[in-house]
Amino acid sequence: MTESFVAQVAVAAPLDKILSYVVPAALVATVRPGCLLKVPLGRRIVYGYLLSQALGCGEGLKEVAEVVDEAPLFPSGMTAFFERMAQYYHYPLGEVIATGVPVGLFGHAGNPESVGDRYYVPTALAGLPRGARQQELLKWLRDHGGASRRELNTLFPGSSQVFKRLVECGYLLMEEGPGREFRPLANSDGRRPELSAEQGKAFSTIVTALERGLFATFLLHGVTGSGKTEVYMRAVEETHRRGHKALVLVPEIALTPQLVGRFQERFSLSGLSMAVLHSGLSRAERKKAWRGICAGSIDVAIGARSAVFAPFERLGLIVVDEEHDASYKQSEGFRYNARDMAILRAQMDGATVVLGSATPSLPAFQHAREGRIVYLGLKERALSRPLPEVKLVDLTRSQRKGVLSQELGVALRETLERKEQSLLLLNRRGFAPFLLCHSCGTAIRCPNCEITLTYYQKKNLLRCHYCDHMIEPLQTCPHCSGGDVRPYGSGTERLEDDLKRLFPEARVARMDSDSMGRKGAYQELVSRMAKKDIDILVGTQMISKGHDFENVTLVGVVNADSALFLPDYRAAERTFSLLTQVSGRAGRGALPGRVFIQTHNPDHYVFKSVVGHDYETFFEEEIRFRREAAYPPFGFLANLVLAGENPEKTEEAAAALASCLRRQADQVEILGPAACLLSRIRKKFRYQVVLKSQRRFPLHRLLKDALVFQKNLPGNVKMVLDIDPLDMF
Ligand code: ADP
Ligand code: ZN
Repeated sequence: MTESFVAQVAVAAPLDKILSYVVPAALVATVRPGCLLKVPLGRRIVYGYLLSQALGCGEGLKEVAEVVDEAPLFPSGMTAFFERMAQYYHYPLGEVIATGVPVGLFGHAGNPESVGDRYYVPTALAGLPRGARQQELLKWLRDHGGASRRELNTLFPGSSQVFKRLVECGYLLMEEGPGREFRPLANSDGRRPELSAEQGKAFSTIVTALERGLFATFLLHGVTGSGKTEVYMRAVEETHRRGHKALVLVPEIALTPQLVGRFQERFSLSGLSMAVLHSGLSRAERKKAWRGICAGSIDVAIGARSAVFAPFERLGLIVVDEEHDASYKQSEGFRYNARDMAILRAQMDGATVVLGSATPSLPAFQHAREGRIVYLGLKERALSRPLPEVKLVDLTRSQRKGVLSQELGVALRETLERKEQSLLLLNRRGFAPFLLCHSCGTAIRCPNCEITLTYYQKKNLLRCHYCDHMIEPLQTCPHCSGGDVRPYGSGTERLEDDLKRLFPEARVARMDSDSMGRKGAYQELVSRMAKKDIDILVGTQMISKGHDFENVTLVGVVNADSALFLPDYRAAERTFSLLTQVSGRAGRGALPGRVFIQTHNPDHYVFKSVVGHDYETFFEEEIRFRREAAYPPFGFLANLVLAGENPEKTEEAAAALASCLRRQADQVEILGPAACLLSRIRKKFRYQVVLKSQRRFPLHRLLKDALVFQKNLPGNVKMVLDIDPLDMF
């Protein structure tokens, strides 16, 4: 028997085992664990990650086709972490690694990085081109500031040559969207303030854990503006002083240029090298950051969800800022929760974890109560600044102009007169959530999804927020052919218009994912806010996150009820934290802040707790319901969604799955099958079966049966498994 080098490879494909390949003699010296390879799989060549290699029998094994990159993409010590993730989420190991270790950055096959839609923006070039068609399109684009290629194809079909011509002549710039260029915003002098007594106590408790060098988890519960960030920065410096590396996770890095700016300023003074992991960086910058972490030359990395995969050999500290935030959960593909995985990683590395929030997730607070994690509280804002005064506006009694109550209108006027700034939260994009036929009551729906099409007035489009289907607005009702089809309800675009009409002297701007599509648009808006070039900023939940604008003294919430009555066990928790977070944007500087929350349910405990800045009362109410219903943190959930184009076949499969699981179930409750709330998306009908158990182990054991069932599904029905789901729509 001839011996050869045999490599264990996790291939980036839906396979539940590790494969073995022979390493050709010429490559033996170059490959190391963590290398990116290309290997044959069936008749294809796929990417794979080398986990280990050893002398062994290579008989019958295929050979490694290519070493894509000789330098390992992750230290071999991380393999165990990847394996634990794969096990926990019942997801193929190679695909787990591929989710976090960006093949696209290092591989060279095509461009595996997701390329967004192209975006056309007018340049500074003045004047007009010659052709009438070119002029028309250019004028439209100048009026609208830009549009994606898909939008333009809908609005001006057959004009792609005209656009090309405008780009060639320098009138338009074509950008790869939805590019979010990233520049940290400088907003402090980097100097270290003296810690408050509360901060000092929290910090020294964390230092004790860093000293011990054993796994420990802290919940840093600090009201908005209490200086949690200051504590994180000190903890990172302390970690560095002890020769260890630190990782800071933030919910959405594109939305936190101010926070990143503060870290950067501080660490450049204290001599730490920091890497920002952000998809808006250029390929070369991202590659450099990744390599630096692998090589040990980076002391601290900051990034969103996927930064939990950052290739540090060993971590001393992981900070999870805004630990309650649902964007830590990936909602497609490998559905991991970076917050939970950060804790797992810290446990494996013997690291300290700091979970920070003004509105801790219920599990985090409950675990602190039970003493499983250590509670650190910051009850006061920095410099003893007061928390804003929060008022409820009862919409059942209040006079209204459009969606604005009289009270909120007066407050906006007063704030304007004082030359201070306001934020208005309306969690609905577009001009109106749908067009409604006023003769027969039909709402215009997406042909592919069971959802209404959002109406955009400026672009004169109807658009589906799930499948991105776009059409021109209908003039007549498809149901009764009546001609009275009008927008119904209000989104941010309409609110922006209303405000411009009501306050003609005010500078009004809008922040939502539609207005922020263009590269650099978000940064620009945040800078303008910081420079006080905007009086009223309207936006979706984007405006609630992390901003620190000292001149904002008024926050208005237009529709506080919209998320509260969704059929979802986390609806109250989500509403409470959204309202508390957005309220926390008011009065952060020297001037005191005010908050107006418009609701039809002023007696609801969620609103009362927000008014009183009273997390604990909210927690007591909510935790009782969770306990009674055995929802997290008292139970564990898994959501199985079956989707297929044929409604009967899909429903049948869901029923079969439920009864198969019911036969096997032990200590697990099976709910459903039921049609999902979003009962049809992208032409696929959706049914769900929910598993619930008071213990993790029986649930995961039963999931194995679900996975066997999945293998035997008819080809036209697909199953998606979501473990610890944060929503179940
Ligand atoms: P949080 O992250 O809890 O919302 P921040 O860390 O953003 O709070 O702090 C709010 C503001 O207070 C920031 O402008 C910060 O620079 C300032 N700050 C924090 N700690 C102190 C301190 N000990 N002394 C003075 N100012 C502080
Ligand atoms: Zn759709």
